[in-house]
Amino acid sequence: MAAARRRERTESALESDGIKWIFAGGEKHAATVNLVPGDSVYGEKLVKQGGEEYRLWDPFRSKLAGALKKGLRNLPIKNGTKVLYLGASTGTTVSHVSDIVGNSGIVFAVEPATRVARELIENVASKRKNVVPVLEDARRPNSYFSVFGKVDVVYCDIAQPDQTEIAIANCNAYLKPGGVMLLVVKTRSIDVLMDPKAVVVQEAKKLEKAGFAIDQVLNLEPFDKDHGMIYCFFRS
Ligand code: SAM
Repeated sequence: MAAARRRERTESALESDGIKWIFAGGEKHAATVNLVPGDSVYGEKLVKQGGEEYRLWDPFRSKLAGALKKGLRNLPIKNGTKVLYLGASTGTTVSHVSDIVGNSGIVFAVEPATRVARELIENVASKRKNVVPVLEDARRPNSYFSVFGKVDVVYCDIAQPDQTEIAIANCNAYLKPGGVMLLVVKTRSIDVLMDPKAVVVQEAKKLEKAGFAIDQVLNLEPFDKDHGMIYCFFRS
């Protein structure tokens, strides 16, 4: 009961941060105001309410939507936020982040795989002025020539064994002091034999050692098996 009340409080706080909770098909969904009205990026439902068009955010397709459903307390991404997004893929989550930051914000979307990067450009970046595709490997942050200035948030979802080290290197290069990093931990990419919860704890310790303050750790099941998300602040 107390947990349900806490969840409700969290959800209503997030409403002012660009998320709307919409009932559809008997379920409550997170949704974002569509920056490109009429355009559905990955087959998500479009819903009109109060003169706005919303895109329902699928927690089985996007780990950030899964984190919202699992009780992410704060969304560091708001109107006007500058985001460095590592592992953009075809742009499913990037497109919702683009809705939230709006035209006064920007999303630098890093993706080295050419096939998915082509879809990212055709379906997302070509229609959204606030998405800048960066076709580079996140292991080489100094090669991002189109990223300018410091960002407010680094979001990392790259499913690599050294994902935490890569995320830290990107924060050192681009995250402003006091900025937030959201790290998706795919535990099986790091160690298939170790207990997934222990892997998340191990990665959180690496972050603390590198000067981050951990604010929240979430388990993303049932939306994503063996995945966690770490929300942390950058101290240096
Ligand atoms: N974040 C995406 C979403 O929610 O829509 C899904 C990301 S998918 C799990 C992981 C992506 O990371 C893949 O598209 C992969 O090509 C990319 N990736 C893998 N290694 C990378 C690296 N070294 N630098 C940047 N991206 C990488």
